[in-house]
Amino acid sequence: MSTLINPTTGVELDHSPASATLVEADAAIARAHDAFPAWRDVAPGERARLLRAFAAIVDAHLEELAQLEVLNAGHTIGNARWEAGNVRDCLNYYSAAPERLFGRQIPVAGGTDVTFHEPLGVVGIIVPWNFPMPIAAWGFAPALAAGNTVVLKPAELTPLTAIRIGELAVEAGLPEGVLTIVPGKGSVVGERFVTHPLVRKVCFTGSTGVGKKIMAGCADQVKRVTLELGGKSANIVFADTDVAAAAASAPSAVFDNAGQDCCARSRILVQRSAYDEFVGRLETAVRAFRVIDPADEQSEMGPMVSAGQRDAVQAYLDTATVAFTGSAPDGPGWWLPPTVVETTDTRDAIWQEEVFGPVVAVMAFDDEDEAITLANDSDYGLSGSIFTSDVGRALRVARRVEAGNLSVNSHSSVRYWTPFGGYKQSGLGRELGPDAPNAFTEEKNVFIAH
Ligand code: NAD
Repeated sequence: MSTLINPTTGVELDHSPASATLVEADAAIARAHDAFPAWRDVAPGERARLLRAFAAIVDAHLEELAQLEVLNAGHTIGNARWEAGNVRDCLNYYSAAPERLFGRQIPVAGGTDVTFHEPLGVVGIIVPWNFPMPIAAWGFAPALAAGNTVVLKPAELTPLTAIRIGELAVEAGLPEGVLTIVPGKGSVVGERFVTHPLVRKVCFTGSTGVGKKIMAGCADQVKRVTLELGGKSANIVFADTDVAAAAASAPSAVFDNAGQDCCARSRILVQRSAYDEFVGRLETAVRAFRVIDPADEQSEMGPMVSAGQRDAVQAYLDTATVAFTGSAPDGPGWWLPPTVVETTDTRDAIWQEEVFGPVVAVMAFDDEDEAITLANDSDYGLSGSIFTSDVGRALRVARRVEAGNLSVNSHSSVRYWTPFGGYKQSGLGRELGPDAPNAFTEEKNVFIAH
């Protein structure tokens, strides 16, 4: 693996894990396959107990995991603690699934008909660098609960927390081979999950471009696949809302995690009669946004994950007309200030493309229909927000916006106990929520003649 760098300082980290070779990836898959029959046959209550033990040990190492993420990914310490806690919470939530993996009994003539949810076997989980801990857990917690074994590839830039979580799983008592972390390249380890016949499902989170390749590759074996891809989510602000509150909450909805968030509300649509007031208040809020050392408890935004990501975002800004920015530290590290662009042309790259950095485009609209048309004028459909004091309008608009996760008068979108996923090119399938374990099973129907 190439050398890991602390994004806050630009200084190399002491240890960079080795990249797995193709042979090592195959060996990990083989071990996961060998571990599968025994894991499938662990009694439901015992599998539940092991997952709760795993959750407890993650909780006991919460601060260590959080500090590791600040170091490796430049996440603010507040976010990193939430992320490690989210791993614990996902494990606790899905630890209730083994005893509740219900089938159905369906009335038929001449016998009894029952269904079973059978685990798939080895599941391959491919994780991006933007939320290394939660996205890993959204895959492995329900997959393990349903009786599968897991091989998991963290992103090249951010493998450290996943490797540590893999060690904690073994300490908690999960048998060897049940959860194996395989750090390495997407083109080697990730592709092997797609091509290896013993991997029965690929659960991919990352860019839409790579997701399309993975879906095409999985087609070859009719391999099960879940895709969580990019986004260009709209924050729709109607003039009948509390404009001050909407403007105050808009920066964190897009600049959290330095905008490296698939759910970032990176397009703000504001009804024309409230536009000037909103943009004025937004400027105040953006200038006050604390972009400082992510290890500082007060930090609201840290650096970009890498020099490459910072340069990619800067390339968008080089051709855009910036309205105003917040601040960012000078000196080493991959910093960019939160940046606001006012747009009138929906063909602008900054309006259409997922910038994946601390950049937001703002545009005016006249009425509800136009707001919905503009919001849906995107290949993506992951999340979005609607600010209005009219409950009828909130529901009308929420039903018509083509996105998987919407919030009204707030920006929350990911809870481990509610479903998460995208419309259109934002993805395929859903993660999280009560049904997630079923996505890691085959439904089997058995008829017993009387
Ligand atoms: P990426 O697609 O470059 O990489 C994601 C993962 O895929 C990495 O682990 C990478 O090594 C691996 N990979 C790369 N090429 C591969 C290949 N050919 N075969 C198999 N695996 C391969 O994405 P990224 O730059 O790490 O992450 C940012 C992207 O992720 C953004 O587009 C963002 O919107 C998206 N994302 C989506 C969600 C969601 O839930 N929808 C969540 C987080 C991030």
